[in-house]
Amino acid sequence: MDRDDSSPKMGLQVEVDSKSGFCYGVIKAVRQAENFLKNNSHIYSLGAIVHNDTELARLENLGMKIIQHSDIERIEDVDIFIRAHGEPPSTYKRAAERGLVVMDCTCPVVLKLQERIRKGYRQVKERGGTLLIFGKKGHAEVNGLIGQVDGDAVIIEREEDLNSIDFSRALTIFSQTTMDTVHYSAIISSIKRRVSEAGGDSGKFEYHNTICRQVSSRHPHLRLYCGKHDVIIFVSGGQSSNGRVLFETCRSVNARAYKIESSKDLDISWFNPGETVGVCGATSTPMWQLNEIAEIIRNY
Ligand code: SF4
Repeated sequence: MDRDDSSPKMGLQVEVDSKSGFCYGVIKAVRQAENFLKNNSHIYSLGAIVHNDTELARLENLGMKIIQHSDIERIEDVDIFIRAHGEPPSTYKRAAERGLVVMDCTCPVVLKLQERIRKGYRQVKERGGTLLIFGKKGHAEVNGLIGQVDGDAVIIEREEDLNSIDFSRALTIFSQTTMDTVHYSAIISSIKRRVSEAGGDSGKFEYHNTICRQVSSRHPHLRLYCGKHDVIIFVSGGQSSNGRVLFETCRSVNARAYKIESSKDLDISWFNPGETVGVCGATSTPMWQLNEIAEIIRNY
């Protein structure tokens, strides 16, 4: 809804959350792409570099093109960019076979997790057990993680996914970096209970806290931040996994928290004169976009 230009300003007090903006892994990947594009007309990103259409449009203007895995079969003589989520080994292998140069911007936190998964897999297999990955099925990071073990792991997205597991055997679980810590704790508790009910040995169940601190540390902060403001505007792309999880935290504290993808989704009827408004976002939402949205709201 647009404001009538003749109406008085609402005098909203707008604060941008200084702890929002890109996480370390996304900053690093975007900088590398920008630097490359200073001297090259194009770069081909395997999947969207960030789950944020506004930032993607900016990078596409600089020369970034988004390609899919199937495109590897047809492109020639180009550099392909691997985003912060990482990729399975099969992607590197196929790119090498096709003679493509890979610019690898996998986040160091994800690289470390991939290494831990390979090691955890070897150990649990030696004990005749199963590797579990707590994550979103089909998410790019999860595809990269399960690819480390040739797909020989079970993805646990929700409680029901545990029903097919043999709890009498050894189990090891890791989490996708952007999952919700509370949900992960609940899944771990459920596995412990099921191991005990199956008469299994609890010592054979290993769980690893591999949720990225760049995401997990935002939850307690957002709880405080959202409690301080009358209205919260949370900015995130629709595909962002951490955006969905972080927004749930905002909503649990402030019933007047609204999730938007861009300034086009703002609605003036959400605000009352003189209120305080907090503007925050996902780890894939750039600070420049939060500042732009805050400025629009200040002018209501
Ligand atoms: S959320 Fe963490 S693991 Fe994921 S890209 Fe950002 S810094 Fe890396």
